[in-house]
Parts: sequence; C-alpha cells; structure tokens
Amino acid sequence: MKVYDTLIIGGGQAGLSVAYFLRRKNHDYLILDDQSKAGGAWLQTWDSLALFSPTEYSSLSGWAMPKSENEYPKKNEFIDYLEQYEVRYNMAIQRNTNVISVNKEADLFKVETDRGMFYSKTLVSATGTAKQPFIPNYPNQDIFEGKQLHSITYKNANEFARKKILIVGGGNSGAQILAEVSKVTQTQWITLETPYFLPDDIDGRYLFHAATQKFLGKPIDNSSDIKASLSNIVMVSSVKEARNRNVLHAKRPFTSFYKEGVIWQDGTKEPFDVVIWCTGFKANLEHLKPLDIIENDRIKTNHTRAVKEPKLWLVGYGNWTGFASATIYGVGKTARQTVKELSEELS
Ligand SMILES: Cc1cc2nc3c(=O)[nH]c(=O)nc-3n(C[C@H](O)[C@H](O)[C@H](O)COP(=O)(O)OP(=O)(O)OC[C@H]3O[C@@H](n4cnc5c(N)ncnc54)[C@H](O)[C@@H]3O)c2cc1C
Repeated sequence: MKVYDTLIIGGGQAGLSVAYFLRRKNHDYLILDDQSKAGGAWLQTWDSLALFSPTEYSSLSGWAMPKSENEYPKKNEFIDYLEQYEVRYNMAIQRNTNVISVNKEADLFKVETDRGMFYSKTLVSATGTAKQPFIPNYPNQDIFEGKQLHSITYKNANEFARKKILIVGGGNSGAQILAEVSKVTQTQWITLETPYFLPDDIDGRYLFHAATQKFLGKPIDNSSDIKASLSNIVMVSSVKEARNRNVLHAKRPFTSFYKEGVIWQDGTKEPFDVVIWCTGFKANLEHLKPLDIIENDRIKTNHTRAVKEPKLWLVGYGNWTGFASATIYGVGKTARQTVKELSEELS
C-alpha cells in the first residue's frame, strides 16, 4: 500500500499553489482532481468573463502570468496560464478522479475515489466552491413555472433574447451578467442593498493591495474614502457600457413567487420568464463529511489548519481560510503558510 506524504484534493489555483511550495520541500505528494484538464472553476464560468485584476495581479507564486494584450485578461488566457503553470513545475496530478469521501484509518487519511483508494499522512482540501452554488429560499419558489439557473451554469445571453429576465445578486457576477443579458432583452436587477460600485479607476489592484495590508496586519489607506471589499463591483468595461445604457438600476427583493413571476413588496405581481441567481457559493466540503468536523458549512481552522483534525489543511474557499484566499493574488500567501506548517508536521 502506497502512502503519500500529502494528498491535495482539488487541482484549481489553490491546489496548484500548495503543490508549488510542496515540491520545493521534496515531499511525496499527489493532487487528485475530478476534471479532465487544468482550470478549476474557471472552466465553468461564462464565455465572455474577463478578470477584474490586471495580469500582474493575476499571477500565482513563482511565475508571473504572461502579459495579456487586454488590460484585464480573458478567462481563457488564465486557464492557459494554469495549464502551463502545472507543466512548468511538473506537478504530480491525477485528473478525472473524483474524491468521494475521506476517513481516518489509524493515523492515516484514507481517501476513497471513483478510481480507487489513496492513503496519506497529511491532507490538503482545495475543492473550491463552484460545486456548491447557493440559491436563497423564497416562498412558492417551487410553483414558479419559468426557468431558474445559477450564475455557475450561465454561459452567454443567446438563449435569453426576447425573454423577460430577473437577475438576483449584487456582486460582480450579478452586475456583469446583467450587463450582458440587458443587451439582448428586458431585465430587472434585484439586490439586498443598493449596489456598491467602485470608482472607475479602482480595480482589483486596489482591492488586492488592501488585502495584502490586512494580511500583514498593516492599516489600509482609506484616505480616498473607498470601502475596500472584494465583493464591491469593479467597473470593468462591460459594466461601464451598461451604465452608459442606463440599466444598472436595482430593486430590493420581492416577497414571493407566483406561477408566472414574482410578487413585489407592495403586493403587485410581475411576470418573468427566467431568474438568474447570482447569489454566490458555499464551500464544497462534501467529501470531508465522514470526519464529522463540519459546522455551519465550514470547518473551524487556525489559519488554514483544521482545529479538530490537525493533519488537515483547507486552502481557497474564502476569507475564513485566510483573507482573500479565494482570489488568485491572495491564495499564494495562504498556500505558503500551509506548506510551512505541513512540512513541520512531516519532519
Ligand atoms: C465568476 C467569477 C469570477 C472571478 N473573478 C476573479 C478575478 O477576476 N480575480 C480573482 O482573483 N478571483 C476571481 N474569482 C475568484 C477565484 O479566483 C475563483 O473562484 C477560483 O476558481 C478559486 O480557485 P480554487 O482553486 O479555490 O477553486 P476551484 O477553481 O473551484 O478548483 C477546485 C478544483 O477541485 C475540483 N474538485 C472539487 N471537488 C472535488 C472532489 N470531490 N474530488 C476531486 N476534485 C474536486 C474542482 O473540479 C476544481 O477543479 C472569480 C470567481 C468567480 C465565480
């Protein structure tokens, strides 16, 4: 029976970042990933998606992303970069392998997959959030006869022409999908609060600078009075263009569905053909359920290390595994710290 020093579950940017630091330590590791090629969740996002960060802020540790001819790289350029990153560092990765469950056997992790059993001394889970799209509950949602989809399955606006579309969610996904769909048909945007648009000259650069300051425990320069949050809407060109068309108007949520549409807070009904939920994700921790350490869709961690299972680390996912760890720029810092701890455990 082969026992790895470390198994990494998930071969997206978080898994590759951990592998980058691990290979410098000469530990025997393997990444298990259920997709057929590199790219992680970027493979699922919509066709026209451009990053909100310029190339120099869209790089993983060790090797900068090649300069794009666009100021904001297209998602396919980033997927190509991930593919090349993996090859450049000769990463040990087994694709088309879905991890079903993780158990402990003696002091080892026993990882059950659809391609056999794997064993390791330490484990990193980097399975992202894309497989757990979140859709809030509204009364009578099940009787609505229109189509409902989550932003993770939205590809482009072609199929929505001449339909009436409700877009729910006040983050970057909601704003960018609204911008695209409103070019071909009638839309209504719903957000919990008035959306917060960053000034035109503020992009991922500023947000990541703020993230770094926070990681280093330094004060964020708020002299320009900008609320730095990774959920603020970045004015990428498609959203600016939508602003010029005067479509960036959001209403507060409706109270319930009815068969043909939604009922607003004042009791009026309005029919819609499609609802696109741009309402975010939860961490994909299904495979870790047998360890019995999941509470409220999270695992209690000290930085990235699971408190109740100290040979397990969680990388990516969201701020609870390190500020900005679910971003390209932020994940390297948490991966480096993870490997430092993991290596001490193995030595
Ligand atoms: C629409 C959108 C736009 C974004 N834009 C930006 C941006 O411009 N800049 C930025 O920095 N960040 C951006 N992000 C955030 C973030 O960078 C991405 O979500 C990124 O994909 C997260 O990487 P990850 O490696 O943590 O997870 P993922 O990319 O989801 O990778 C996880 C991998 O694990 C695999 N996996 C999952 N479960 C299993 C299992 N049980 N067994 C085996 N394999 C499994 C998945 O298939 C996947 O390959 C964006 C996110 C979204 C949704």
